Amino acid sequence: MERRSEPIEEYYKPMNISAQRRKRREELAERYFEAMMEYLAFLDDFIDFVTFRGDILKNSAQKVLEDGIMKVITGYVIIDSVMSDYVKRVSKEINDSTLRNLSNPYFRSEDRAMLIAEDETNGIINHDEMQEAVRKGRKYKTWHTMRDWKVRPTHRTLEGKRIPIDEYFNVGGIYMMCPRDPDVDAPEETCGCRCWLTFS
Ligand SMILES: [Zn+2]
Repeated sequence: MERRSEPIEEYYKPMNISAQRRKRREELAERYFEAMMEYLAFLDDFIDFVTFRGDILKNSAQKVLEDGIMKVITGYVIIDSVMSDYVKRVSKEINDSTLRNLSNPYFRSEDRAMLIAEDETNGIINHDEMQEAVRKGRKYKTWHTMRDWKVRPTHRTLEGKRIPIDEYFNVGGIYMMCPRDPDVDAPEETCGCRCWLTFS
């Protein structure tokens, strides 16, 4: 099957951000990927039980993932209520979709783990960078895109858009504080989004 994820360095390379900001994304994505792989190893060990015993192991698997993601991001970003809600929601979503698709090897592949790690990292770091900018007293935020064919039309129209830091972007009718806002559950406007913010 064709690979859907890219190596981490390739993935963030087109992002026009400082080397330091890029490194932070690369490191968090790498560690998020490791948490995904630990979760998949747990599933492999208990796969028969997951299938036959239903909810008990389903909940344990979700806990493994939730704890893994929380441990990873705790070293990188400040855990506010948005982040703790996000970790609960995303681990449930990933676990539910993985268990629903156990017969499809893609759902337990490194490729998917990597795709999720790179993708989720963007929302986590975007949110954290924005909180940091607020603490530093920045007043405005500007939306940036990768400017390639993969950018959604609804995000392309936001390229260069500058608004007060405490206001929402209207992203195709969905209101977000930052690209891939971890507080928003709207896959149609967040999945695979590689946009980022700068502040002034
Ligand atoms: Zn985007």
